[in-house]
Amino acid sequence: MKLAALGEVMVELAPQASVQEQAGSDKPLLAQSYAGDTYNTAVYIARGGVSVSYVTLLGDDPYSEEVLTRLAGEGIDTSAIARLPGRCPGLYMIQNTPDGERYFTYWRDQAPARELFADADRREALKAHLREMDCLYLSGITLAIMSADARVELLAFLKEYRAAGGRVAFDSNYRPRLWKSADEAREAVAAFMAVTDMALLTFEDEQALWGDKRAGQCVQRNSRAGVVELVIKRGAEPVLLQLDGELTAIDVPPVSRVVDTTGAGDSFNAGYLAARLQGASPQQSIAAGNRCAARVIGHRGAIIPRAEYLAAAAEAPEAEAC
Ligand code: ADP
Repeated sequence: MKLAALGEVMVELAPQASVQEQAGSDKPLLAQSYAGDTYNTAVYIARGGVSVSYVTLLGDDPYSEEVLTRLAGEGIDTSAIARLPGRCPGLYMIQNTPDGERYFTYWRDQAPARELFADADRREALKAHLREMDCLYLSGITLAIMSADARVELLAFLKEYRAAGGRVAFDSNYRPRLWKSADEAREAVAAFMAVTDMALLTFEDEQALWGDKRAGQCVQRNSRAGVVELVIKRGAEPVLLQLDGELTAIDVPPVSRVVDTTGAGDSFNAGYLAARLQGASPQQSIAAGNRCAARVIGHRGAIIPRAEYLAAAAEAPEAEAC
């Protein structure tokens, strides 16, 4: 099974300590890393044993080189990543606020990933690559950074791709700052839900985008859109699965020490998709998603060290995937 994830990876600068720990220090200690929702998911899917290609655009700077090195270190295919001369990836900084929340500031308007699916020649070459895949994974962030014209091209391609037997997995990941308006976001997300086979949504994002009061509203809207395999993540609350018109709630096992929930939804999606593509049922795949997310939220940062992750996965009693 081969999956391609489409989106943006950014340079990340994150405080190495909590606000309390920083209080006595006059130097803000920052750790530099790389992250992005679809990138995070791609890394954990690959660690779960599925062949992954990451699709984005990068520059020709040292940070772009490092992204390629890291992807290759995860065994991820980088052959479909285009390089734009003179450009560099977007950047974001994380701040820990005194109330324990995290605040994100982005410098990503000029990021090469914004040109995904925009150039006609590059697009045709990319389509040929994507047709080789069993599954394509993208998110609302992938859509938000693309131009409106490129979104139309991608949508048309996904229709053709699904007609030829490919499967599409989508997470709405709503980030209001990336869209011109909520209406623009709703229109784009609705159009892509109509070409989605596996929707892996976070209820909080759906509430922000559509104003849902109850999870049932989210289920109804997406069922009407024709999504047959619908998964709704709700933090520590049971995950909802709507399959063939039937709704079930699957418990999330408690995590003894939640250190940092960054990447929780992304890693859940990875656990789910890695298991699903290796033949597990949706119910088994939700359990795999929960296990993958539990490992990630027990550590600081979206990407936990590979060796540590694989050791934890090997210890798990049901380590069939992720
Ligand atoms: P997002 O990161 O998109 O906001 P959620 O917060 O809904 O996503 O979390 C995604 C998944 O991460 C959950 O379905 C669950 O598996 C796991 N998770 C998140 N928070 C917790 C928690 N407090 N305890 C246990 N698991 C959690």
